[in-house]
Amino acid sequence: MKVRIRKWNAVASWRWDVPEDDVCGICRVQFDGTCPNCRFPGDDCPLLVGKCGHSFHLHCVNDWIQTESSRGLCPMCRQKFEFVAE
Ligand SMILES: [Zn+2]
Ligand SMILES: [Zn+2]
Ligand SMILES: [Zn+2]
Repeated sequence: MKVRIRKWNAVASWRWDVPEDDVCGICRVQFDGTCPNCRFPGDDCPLLVGKCGHSFHLHCVNDWIQTESSRGLCPMCRQKFEFVAE
C-alpha cells in the first residue's frame, strides 16, 4: 500500500512560504506572537517597520544588526535597514 505522503509535504511547505507578511523575517514567528526571547506579546516585544517595508520584532532586529554578517542590512531584501521614524 502506497501512502501519498508527497502531497502532504507540498501543502506543508506551501503554507510555510505564504504568510511572509505576517511573520517576522528573522525568527519566523507571527507578529501576534513574541520573538523567541519574550514570553508575552505587546509593548514588551514591539514590532519595527523598516523603510524597505519589512517588519521584524525589535529584539530580533537588535540581535541581527549586532551580528557581523548583517552589515546593517535587512535580512529579507539586503537593503540598508533603516527604521521608519515614528
Ligand atoms: Zn522575530
Ligand atoms: Zn521580544
Ligand atoms: Zn527589507
